[in-house]
Amino acid sequence: SHRVQDRRRYDAAGVDARVEARVAAGRNGGFENTPDSDPDLPGNHVWGRGIADRMVASELGARLVADARVADEAALDVVVARGVAAAAGWQALGADERARILVRAGEKLEERRAELLEVMGSECGKTLDQGDPEVSEAIDFANYYAMLGQQLDQLDGARFTPPTLTAVIPPWNFPVAIPAGGTLAALAAGSAVIIKPATNSARSGAVMVEALWDAGVPRDVLQLVQFGDRALGSGLVADPRIDRLILTGAYETAVSFRELRPELPILAETSGKNAIIVTPNADLDLAARDVVQSAFGHAGQKCSAASLVILVGSVASSKRFRGQLLDAARSLKVGTPEHLDTQMGTIITAPGGKLLRGLTTLGEGERWLIEPRPLASESPLARDANGDTKLWSPGVREGVRRGSEYHLTEYFGPILGVMTAETLDEAIDMVNEIDYGLTSGLHSLDRDELARWLDRIQAGNLYVNRGITGAIVRRQSFGGWKKSAIGAGTKAGGPSYLFGLGSWEDAPVAA
Ligand code: GLU
Repeated sequence: SHRVQDRRRYDAAGVDARVEARVAAGRNGGFENTPDSDPDLPGNHVWGRGIADRMVASELGARLVADARVADEAALDVVVARGVAAAAGWQALGADERARILVRAGEKLEERRAELLEVMGSECGKTLDQGDPEVSEAIDFANYYAMLGQQLDQLDGARFTPPTLTAVIPPWNFPVAIPAGGTLAALAAGSAVIIKPATNSARSGAVMVEALWDAGVPRDVLQLVQFGDRALGSGLVADPRIDRLILTGAYETAVSFRELRPELPILAETSGKNAIIVTPNADLDLAARDVVQSAFGHAGQKCSAASLVILVGSVASSKRFRGQLLDAARSLKVGTPEHLDTQMGTIITAPGGKLLRGLTTLGEGERWLIEPRPLASESPLARDANGDTKLWSPGVREGVRRGSEYHLTEYFGPILGVMTAETLDEAIDMVNEIDYGLTSGLHSLDRDELARWLDRIQAGNLYVNRGITGAIVRRQSFGGWKKSAIGAGTKAGGPSYLFGLGSWEDAPVAA
């Protein structure tokens, strides 16, 4: 494994203690977020304890996916017709009964936490510390949308009409929480759902769906389909009986679906190229920790990940900060998820194309501070179907220039680029000239800097003095701006997401 034994200069426990003290003294900005979050709510992520004891190798798989396989267009046609036919019964059930089923879905997901962790680990390289909050997030979605779905019936003077049939097309990187979020929102709204998990995470999606069936969601109201065929995917989206699409994936995919059916309402969260700005007024120890966690958690394979850190003014020449950052990155234990102390897991497949270029080549003026390398491992989970290693150590490059390929491109892997700026405004300009706008971070304890940044920065999710991944249902709903979203600016885990799923009209005034 890739581990630096000497961690003396990087004092994570000390950082935690200082953060707690600052929070206690009421001095921490904590996080800031966009308007539909409620900052007064207590944290609702429960980090499961004793999960390691419950991690069991489970016999899953073939059965669930085989059940669901859609081989051709005729089979897909049957699935769509069944969904349309089932929708009326689901709507007629009423919001309260639907909410009861969704709350039970949360309980079923909790019961299957260990199984979900196992399957996410073996299928997608999710480490325990990443997978566990992900299951919690799925459960949060169940409870949150159950509650919100009941409000749809109670709004005076407006009537909500749900979609009949929603297609949910999630990615593999959050193989439980993202499919659960879209599915549960649509179900809460009263829509029937067809979900097609990503091929790389078919089993994770299937276990999630099975938990919802167990909770009482009828199998024709929630149908699971599985195929790896692009033409079938386009066929599903093009089918006029599908009247909503919930998509998380690459920007290009969302655009291609929009071009296929311009009239189809799409809720899409797409790509990101996210930065954390660190000013001389930051707690630098804390910043180093948060940058490393945001850049390398789940090997950087999050739309929300930090792939740039922009050092302002004297931070750019701070040897201490650089030392801490590199020390923390080098200290990460890279490995496969069956080792419970793994901190950074595998890449979904042995890198090729853009990601391989990002891991192996430098732009003009750039230099590796830590050069990423492929690692050998005994574990079968470290190799892809071709036998190539999926395990890479993290990379940190400096000298990234404004407007360069690295500055503007999403790589979706364990690479961090360091940029420098003279002033906070210059750093903000560097962020805003990126086409995407998903997450963004500021590390500064200065109120004026915070106000300036909040005023100018262009991103959907803003985080102050913390990492920029790990949005929390209800408290920090998640969604992007600019090329990071397609659709009505709705955010998963916030109210607009559910309310935006259907259509509204004024209710007739009662006589
Ligand atoms: N919701 C996740 C987070 O806040 C990111 C989802 C994604 O990468 O698509 O980190």
